[in-house]
Amino acid sequence: MKGDIVIIGGGITGIALAHELARRGEDVVVLEKRFIGSGSTFRCGTGIRQQFNDEANVQVMKRSVELWKKYSEEYGFPFKQTGYLFLLYSEEEINQFKENISIQNRFGVPTRLITPEEAKEIVPLLDVSEVMAASWNPTDGKADPFHATTAFALHAQEMGAKIYEYTEVKDIIIEKGEIKGVKTNKGIIKTGIVINATNAWAKLINAMAKVPIRIPIEPYKHQAIITQPIKKNTINPMVISFRYKDSYLTQTDHGGIIGGVGYEVGPTYDLSPSYTFLREVTAYLSKIVPAIRELLILRTWAGYYAKTPDSNPAIGRINEIDEYYIAAGFSGHGFMMAPAVAEMLSDLITKGKTSLPIEWYDPYRFERGELRQKALQMG
Ligand SMILES: Cc1cc2nc3c(=O)[nH]c(=O)nc-3n(C[C@H](O)[C@H](O)[C@H](O)COP(=O)(O)OP(=O)(O)OC[C@H]3O[C@@H](n4cnc5c(N)ncnc54)[C@H](O)[C@@H]3O)c2cc1C
Repeated sequence: MKGDIVIIGGGITGIALAHELARRGEDVVVLEKRFIGSGSTFRCGTGIRQQFNDEANVQVMKRSVELWKKYSEEYGFPFKQTGYLFLLYSEEEINQFKENISIQNRFGVPTRLITPEEAKEIVPLLDVSEVMAASWNPTDGKADPFHATTAFALHAQEMGAKIYEYTEVKDIIIEKGEIKGVKTNKGIIKTGIVINATNAWAKLINAMAKVPIRIPIEPYKHQAIITQPIKKNTINPMVISFRYKDSYLTQTDHGGIIGGVGYEVGPTYDLSPSYTFLREVTAYLSKIVPAIRELLILRTWAGYYAKTPDSNPAIGRINEIDEYYIAAGFSGHGFMMAPAVAEMLSDLITKGKTSLPIEWYDPYRFERGELRQKALQMG
């Protein structure tokens, strides 16, 4: 077997990247140890936002939303621009968000500060008795991770990409700093270009390639819930409350309310659900929407946030190994970033440069001690 470019990891990052490279006529292979989406991607909270607190993430997410819109229309998977609503409870929070809003507005993201009454018009079930204002961007949204990943995978394959499931990478063969191939449980694949898109497992793949720099990415357990379905369009936007333990909640296409809180365990590869989480998530989410108290919780589950010290991913080329790239460490917001990350990295691989601010995600920043401003993390 042979592939000019081998992507390790069949989550939304690896699949969107394969799709973009195939679109550009590259010969690309994805190796996924289980089935596509089986890592964090199919476990995610569906949210897609441009409301970040730094220029790079705002620009990248603005581009990502354009691509989400384009591909959801072309391929017919659900992506809805139902907005993100951050509830604010203090002057301090409001001032911080005013700064974020001015950065977002500078790049054409139409976020604005609204009153508690306006927030309640958007989501009538909200308890706004303690809310002082809200940050509202109607162009943020949500997409179904299963439909989106599957659609990108099918179209990537139509354009010639090969996706091998149940194919686990065991080692990377490098001679004199050049990649010769990857060893899998199904044999060796010859290649000269490898992309590590394994997120929570990224450090294991980096170890196989003997990456000589420190790229700290660790797996943390994050859990989520889904309630029984309620009337459609009851909670359209993603609602966020940092005051109530970094909570997030929204309604899925099926009608259930999906949500989580910032209850983090790790570093660990353990994914067992916990009673503490269940207790916290019900307490905090029902502070935001009291009607949640009346609903049955159908299911809880866990997945990984692959975290870096500044909650920004590591995206770029590792210079010491010819043609080895990484796109991992998405720290709980990698689903939303994938279409833009695919574009940035494809630009880097095929043209050597990109107009998106990829330097922000420089994998060498940890080694140099140049951590970025911490990216806004939810849940
Ligand atoms: C509860 C929860 C809620 C979340 N909510 C959101 C949200 O609202 N919005 C958002 O943007 N993000 C959210 N996230 C984060 C999001 O899920 C991830 O950032 C995103 O899915 C990362 O995608 P990925 O393709 O980089 O990684 P993954 O989906 O984890 O894919 C990596 C793949 O690599 C494979 N792999 C690993 N090792 C090997 C190997 N040796 N050989 C072959 N394959 C290998 C794995 O099997 C896996 O499928 C959430 C995460 C969780 C857990």
